[in-house]
Amino acid sequence: MKLVIAQMKHETNTFSPVPTPLARFARGGGVPPEGDAAVVAYRGTGSAIAAFIDLAERAGARFTVPIAASAAPSGPGDDPADQHIAGRIVEAVAAGCDAVLLDLHGAMVTRRFDDGEGELLRRIRAVAPQVPIGVALDMHTNLYDAMGEHASVIAGYQTYPHVDVYETGLRAGRATLAQLAGRARPTMAWGRQPMLPHVMRQGSDDSPNRELQARCREMEAQGALCASMFVGFPNADIEFAGLSAVVVTDGDAALARRWCDELLERAWSARAQFVYTPEPLERSIARAQVLAAARPADSGPIVLLDHCDNCASGGTMDTMTVLGAMLDAGLRDAAAFAIFDPQAVQQLIAAGVGAQVSLPLGGKLDMPSLQLKGAPRVVSGRVRLIADGRYHNVGPMARGELQTMGPTVVLDSGGIEIVVISNHVEPHDLAAFTAAGIAPQHKTFVMLKSRVHWRAGLKSLAHAVVECNGSGVCTSDYAALSHRRVRRPIHPLDPL
Ligand SMILES: [Zn+2]
Repeated sequence: MKLVIAQMKHETNTFSPVPTPLARFARGGGVPPEGDAAVVAYRGTGSAIAAFIDLAERAGARFTVPIAASAAPSGPGDDPADQHIAGRIVEAVAAGCDAVLLDLHGAMVTRRFDDGEGELLRRIRAVAPQVPIGVALDMHTNLYDAMGEHASVIAGYQTYPHVDVYETGLRAGRATLAQLAGRARPTMAWGRQPMLPHVMRQGSDDSPNRELQARCREMEAQGALCASMFVGFPNADIEFAGLSAVVVTDGDAALARRWCDELLERAWSARAQFVYTPEPLERSIARAQVLAAARPADSGPIVLLDHCDNCASGGTMDTMTVLGAMLDAGLRDAAAFAIFDPQAVQQLIAAGVGAQVSLPLGGKLDMPSLQLKGAPRVVSGRVRLIADGRYHNVGPMARGELQTMGPTVVLDSGGIEIVVISNHVEPHDLAAFTAAGIAPQHKTFVMLKSRVHWRAGLKSLAHAVVECNGSGVCTSDYAALSHRRVRRPIHPLDPL
């Protein structure tokens, strides 16, 4: 038995000005790892590709890993990147195999293709019409028919924050290997609802997604090979952005259809709960100060969530609105993670540890699709730390995976320790702070550029959370995103 195991992951925010060259798919620059290097990079981590490798080794199967490519969310992928990654995978399949296991995202848009994954699967099918293809997908998948038509098995994450990525790989991989062994006949049904759940309302600790994901797990306990509810990624102006579901049964097409429709109907009934209404920023900052004054000593920080500028939704991570409001309000004993500004990092490194500096920070990137110009803010402070920005996640999310913030500096404004980084990294792991020499649990305020994933590794440290509505490419205001190509009508953009 010979398997092809590969990874191609990118969540594309079509409104994002952040470019997506091939180097973004390689942690630490260069080209994404291939072969043994890819196995070494991911074996033993919490990724879906790690689960595929484990399953293959336990089954005594031969396998090749033509490429393991994963990029932080950003704008549409460059054609050379897409050609390189998809080309490697298709070449490996064409060389001959008994099954293909793919660790994909599901919301990848390239300059040429709105459905990057569907296009990859179509190309694989063209060279291997009969081979079982098992696919693990992110819960933020925007599902196109090509994915359902060409894959044999699809399994999606059932948690957000995504802490079951490895288990998703097991679900997709086991069903596919069972098919290969003649022990199962995967039969898939899929469908969509015309709705764009807001990312801030998608957490699987919160209703209604908590109950929807619980029903998926229940269906699997009742015999489904895989049941997945995709909340979708709304920051993509493509025809089929939004919510969808896929159910795989063992040979029972009618049951797969019935369960899939049930999931879609449950989600539609709960659509009002997927709408997010943000609070004015001044009110949020004032509320954070009241919460801080009332909290018992050392009971954990007030987390200020700069959710509009979450790089893991395609944000530039360099908007200064929320950090600026914190500086204006004179917040003290605070940390901020992080401002993406490679230029400022180099200036701060040149100044050296201990230097007192004053420089324009952030706001280097314009956002043409939102008609926003970058707005740097002059910040004064002392350079506290310079680091290489490399760390391994301690988990529970993406456990063991290498993160590279690039050259990193901590600038201490006097009240706020500001982490300034050179690569986009969302703060969802305590190790991000450890790498910057900061213990967030002992701060009064911690600003995070994140939406939901911060909960994975940092929520347990927080005394309270205040969602702060700053400007950013992942704006909470759908009207500002001006969806033009998504199918209409769609909830909540249109009356339905
Ligand atoms: Zn996701």
